[in-house]
Amino acid sequence: MNFTGKICGICNKGKLHQFKDEVADGVHVDAYKCDNGGHISYSGDVMGKVEALYKNTSEERHLVKAGSSVAAPIPAKIVKMLNLKPKEKVYISMQGNHIVIRPAPA
Ligand SMILES: [Zn+2]
Repeated sequence: MNFTGKICGICNKGKLHQFKDEVADGVHVDAYKCDNGGHISYSGDVMGKVEALYKNTSEERHLVKAGSSVAAPIPAKIVKMLNLKPKEKVYISMQGNHIVIRPAPA
């Protein structure tokens, strides 16, 4: 199914344009980007595949409320591997529709 030109289901304002989204290193899938804020949508078929890929390569967490922000618990395995400590500074940025968290340089 082609969603090009359809209205974005996230903001209900922008129009969708087809593009190739890199969902993992070197893995590109058909996706649609909204021209009003860059919201990303997949067809149901692709969405199932992307979720399966994430489940195999990532740890699932639920966001928790932190004041007016939300916080994602970082899995203990990653905390240990990167030797992260509570209150340590990290830098959070967006790369496309991904969230990147970098520990401050030691
Ligand atoms: Zn949108």
